Amino acid sequence: MKTMLITGASRGIGAATALLAAEQGFAVVVNYHKNKQAAEEVVNKIQAMGGKAAAIHADISEEKEIIRLYKEIDEIFGDLHVLVNNAGILEQQSRLETMDASRLTRIFAINVTGQMICAREAIKRMSFKYGGKGGSIVNVSSLASKTGSPNEYIDYATSKGAIDSFTKGLSKEIAEEGIRVNGVRPAFIYTDIHADGGEADRVDRIKNNIPMKRGGTPEEVAEAIMWLASEKSSYSTGTFIDVTGGR
Ligand code: NAP
Repeated sequence: MKTMLITGASRGIGAATALLAAEQGFAVVVNYHKNKQAAEEVVNKIQAMGGKAAAIHADISEEKEIIRLYKEIDEIFGDLHVLVNNAGILEQQSRLETMDASRLTRIFAINVTGQMICAREAIKRMSFKYGGKGGSIVNVSSLASKTGSPNEYIDYATSKGAIDSFTKGLSKEIAEEGIRVNGVRPAFIYTDIHADGGEADRVDRIKNNIPMKRGGTPEEVAEAIMWLASEKSSYSTGTFIDVTGGR
């Protein structure tokens, strides 16, 4: 049984990916930050389908917590085959003039540094160079990396732009070591993240400007993540799937 770590898997896109991964036969590490109960519900659902999963707390913005998370994975699961770098945040919609350095530091600590440190620890376990058997890393970016999210969250969009560069660079750096690195760029997905920006019904406000005239579901994003995570995409690395209803 292959093991998949999904960061931020207690809710939203991460939780949907955890359930689909279990359905497809993966043992799943359900990482969470604040919502222990929601993470345990995801684990209970997986166990009820006969799957294997564990909820492990770690704040992805803290390097030492990421290191502890991986040590727990080593102990509970042994090998790691897939990392889904999903945990991400945004803050209140605003313009750059009102953003201070501490906000930028919070956003970048999770959305960029956290993803990079999680990938570093995955490489140490998956790379042929370290005696690993290879693997797959899927970074969850956003359409915001291309639009820049003016008047809403330029900081968040910039962090996702960094993830696109990171995905490209890392994919080439470790291609010969058996690890593929790809990205998924969702947009307008019905999750709690929009409430964190101060507009819980943002997707419904925007939906008439989306070519498909509707928002997306976490399950639709999970399908793209799982294709890139699995051997079905065995000749793809450094590439992206946009899950954006045509925008
Ligand atoms: P969400 O519903 O707000 O869920 C966020 C998840 O991240 C939760 O499981 C949360 O855990 C976890 N998390 C937050 N801070 C964390 C930290 N410091 N350490 C570990 N986990 C942390 O968000 P979502 O919409 O599913 O977003 C998932 C990813 O998709 C993000 O990278 C986001 O940028 C990206 N994305 C989303 C959309 C969209 O329209 N929804 C569009 C483009 C990209 P707890 O609940 O335990 O705190």
